[in-house]
Amino acid sequence: MINLLDEARDLQSDILSLRRRLQTTPEPAFQEAATAETVANALKACGFQLKMGIAETGLLADTGAGKVVAIHTAMDALPASDKQAAFHGCGHDANMACVIGAARIIARRLRGQTSGTLRLIFQPAAELSSHASNAAAYQMIEAGALDNCSAVFGIHVDSTIRSGRAAVVEPVLNSSTHQHFREIMQQSAVELLGKSQVSLVTRTTYGCDFSRYLEKVPGSLVYLGVGIPGKFASHHSPDFSIDETSLYVGAAVLANTVLKTLAEK
Ligand SMILES: [Zn+2]
Ligand SMILES: [Zn+2]
Repeated sequence: MINLLDEARDLQSDILSLRRRLQTTPEPAFQEAATAETVANALKACGFQLKMGIAETGLLADTGAGKVVAIHTAMDALPASDKQAAFHGCGHDANMACVIGAARIIARRLRGQTSGTLRLIFQPAAELSSHASNAAAYQMIEAGALDNCSAVFGIHVDSTIRSGRAAVVEPVLNSSTHQHFREIMQQSAVELLGKSQVSLVTRTTYGCDFSRYLEKVPGSLVYLGVGIPGKFASHHSPDFSIDETSLYVGAAVLANTVLKTLAEK
């Protein structure tokens, strides 16, 4: 087996430059136009079929054929305030870069021996966290984000978890299928990082609208440690910052999780 961590490490400089580009166009809820364009260009380059303009600025992207497994990620930055301009204070720029890194690793295999479809769900306006029925997550689902989908996975960087570690979320909806995909994700992370680097966390709300998708389709979320020891800054705080050196780890964990899920009959 080719080591996915090595393969992802080879993409690290691309992941970083993509994050940099996204970082320079921080757009708040429903205004993610430049973000969508950057994402679309990156995905077209690796063969994805795109549907754009869903819930204003959202994207759905598919590649492959057969069994569908999805990855969700949010696109929005925090809005400008009295104190500062709009900025990616929740790390969605980093999440998107990780997801595109994983997509490249998976897409390579879908052009070869591996069968299945990878669907990417790039959702705007996750920071509004609205429960209204017209919230962006529901608009994405309405537009077909979860059609024929066997499982949905998510990743969110976490600046309060030490860089290099990962924390898989214990399902709130405690069904056997949710537990099954939690196990696949946890195993995938343990294989790559070692048991001591992977924990299981309980969180009542899942990262940035991901839980809306789990109401429809089973799946699992991982928090990727990007915390800088000695200066853990919380999300949404003005001094939010992350250790970027671990971003390829997130791409590898996601890719391993999706490939294992596609390999199940
Ligand atoms: Zn946030
Ligand atoms: Zn977030």
